[in-house]
Amino acid sequence: MTGDTKIYNEYMEKKRFAFESVCKRCGECCGLVDGDPCVNLKKYKEGAYYCTVYDERLGIQKTVSGKIFNCVYIREIIKHGCLRPNCAYNDLFAHQI
Ligand code: SF4
Ligand code: SF4
Repeated sequence: MTGDTKIYNEYMEKKRFAFESVCKRCGECCGLVDGDPCVNLKKYKEGAYYCTVYDERLGIQKTVSGKIFNCVYIREIIKHGCLRPNCAYNDLFAHQI
């Protein structure tokens, strides 16, 4: 790996981390408020949740009741304008418009 590539990769990793840090881990986009959350969603502390398969989350997953759905990057949800009303990414983009 060249020096430029290493610097670029480090820069992109910092950007990715900053983007993912916006998430307040409310669990809404994982079905928490729908009454049938994803089986991989677990409570971390009051009001905060985490995904037990985060690094391998993308693709087919299922809810507690057994419904099948496709877990996607949050950027796909943003792209289609389907963010939850309370999602922290709404604030991020509200400041950029
Ligand atoms: S697999 Fe996807 S939908 Fe399920 S908890 Fe993880 S991030 Fe949320
Ligand atoms: S709805 Fe938004 S803030 Fe809440 S867990 Fe999903 S991405 Fe994070």
